[in-house]
Amino acid sequence: MMAGPGLKERMTTSTFDRNAMRQEVLESLDRRFSTRGILRMRLQRRLHRALFWLEMRVLFTLKRVVDLGASLFLIALTLPVFVPARIFSWMGRYPMLDRARRAGRWLRVFDRLTFTCPDTLWGGFLRRSGLRILPVFLNILGGDMSFIGPRCCAPEELDPADREVRRRSSVRPGLICSWWIRNRSNIAYDTEFSVDREYVDHAGLKTDIGIALRAIPAVLYGQGVDVAPDRIRMLGIPINNLTMDEALDEVMRSLEGTEGRQVCFVNADCANIAYRNADYWRRLNSAAVVLADGIGMKLAGRMLKKNVRENVNGTDMLPRLLDRLKRAGHRLYLLGAKPGVAEDVRQYIEENHPGVTVCGTRHGYFNDEEEAEVVNGIREARADLLLVAFGAPQQDLWIGQHLEALGVKVAMGVGGLFDFYSGRIPRAPLWMREAGFEWLYRFICEPRRMWRRYFVGNFVFLWRVMLEKLGAKMDHFERRRRPR
Ligand code: UDP
Repeated sequence: MMAGPGLKERMTTSTFDRNAMRQEVLESLDRRFSTRGILRMRLQRRLHRALFWLEMRVLFTLKRVVDLGASLFLIALTLPVFVPARIFSWMGRYPMLDRARRAGRWLRVFDRLTFTCPDTLWGGFLRRSGLRILPVFLNILGGDMSFIGPRCCAPEELDPADREVRRRSSVRPGLICSWWIRNRSNIAYDTEFSVDREYVDHAGLKTDIGIALRAIPAVLYGQGVDVAPDRIRMLGIPINNLTMDEALDEVMRSLEGTEGRQVCFVNADCANIAYRNADYWRRLNSAAVVLADGIGMKLAGRMLKKNVRENVNGTDMLPRLLDRLKRAGHRLYLLGAKPGVAEDVRQYIEENHPGVTVCGTRHGYFNDEEEAEVVNGIREARADLLLVAFGAPQQDLWIGQHLEALGVKVAMGVGGLFDFYSGRIPRAPLWMREAGFEWLYRFICEPRRMWRRYFVGNFVFLWRVMLEKLGAKMDHFERRRRPR
């Protein structure tokens, strides 16, 4: 049997019967909102909630079983450390365990256990090897904690009156949490609480497996934010050794100033360019702020024993910078990339960071004759902050040449940033960034352009860092051999 014309069709036909339509709508409303309809709806909602609850219960029970099994196994495995710890503490008459008050599930307070590390050979061994955390397996066995969960924090940090805090405390805190992984990978730019909320929103087996896998590289070669000097020098480049927050503070302070200041991001590729391009090297040496960008700089810092505090790159900085710009009311100009790209970035900013004033955009493909017009355009737009995306070293040399004429307070070279935020080039997934493999992702996206940069450039960079390290060692020996 052929189906009759649909409601929409009948509305557009000339035989449209208004009364019949009204009748039909009334009947459908009646069906939905009759006592039976309402009961059915309520029942469906309850069933849905009960199923969700059941699923969560199964997941939590499964997780608890895994926690119990794994903690028992690990305690058995690490008994050879527990026994000497007991003996040494008894001999030295100090407590075997340190206790720190922590908030557990439903904000129940418990003592988080670690081995006491006295100032002895044994204490030093426990501290350096990381074995001091072993007693935490007892917390996991007892049900205070889980292997994976949100951050295990002090009760004072959590306000029980806050609804979000109560929601967060519906799961056990974890020995490993997303924030810890990001901190070790130097990409912990979000607040601890928002990372915890992200975990609770996506709690489940898949999330936990993901965190467990992502923890492996973080444990193997991750490193937290270091205590290190504010300024360091690597391969002849002066670096302002700042964390992301400190760098943002510095930019905002510069925006309040009267003089134009240049901010440069330097990664391993930039360091290679500066090695052979004297103009660029001089520019980096005279810029107001130079920030270490990428895992390569981190690695170089570690090799040279000049710890780089954090990987501060423009792409991660932008959303945070926009938030601050909005509050301070500064004007932003976007210059660079292919025609249309800066416009798309403006659209991204308007949609995601309303309140930020983008006072102008322009693409980065202009010739020498058009240069004066570009500079005047930026000056007339009365921009406070200028982002220039021409790639290194052109962007930094261009800024250095025109900084005064531009009339801006801060100008930053941001490389391929516009291509990311306009959606032209996808950003590496979080797990790849956490593992320090963003470069690999960029190579996969643009192999032809990137192979030389990554597969030749990175090795050349590390080789030069090695030479600098050897040079520093030779100088050290020379100085020691010199007669006093
Ligand atoms: N670009 C430009 N003008 C030019 C050459 C390049 O605006 O004359 C843009 C290009 O479209 C790209 C950016 O500069 O958006 C360079 O990105 P790249 O990834 O090379 O920069 P990196 O972050 O690697 O320094």
